[in-house]
Amino acid sequence: MIETLRCACEAAGCDRDLAEHQLMLTMETSAGTRHAYECDCGAVTVTVTKG
Ligand SMILES: [Zn+2]
Repeated sequence: MIETLRCACEAAGCDRDLAEHQLMLTMETSAGTRHAYECDCGAVTVTVTKG
């Protein structure tokens, strides 16, 4: 399974790239590592990476 390393804001019409400094929360779960990013627009996007 290939997952994109790029992550972008999920808010409609935003699509900004999310950077390290926007990472506000990291959660380790059995399904992988979840990262929550807070965009400049105020939306929060959660990504899941495995490994
Ligand atoms: Zn945004």
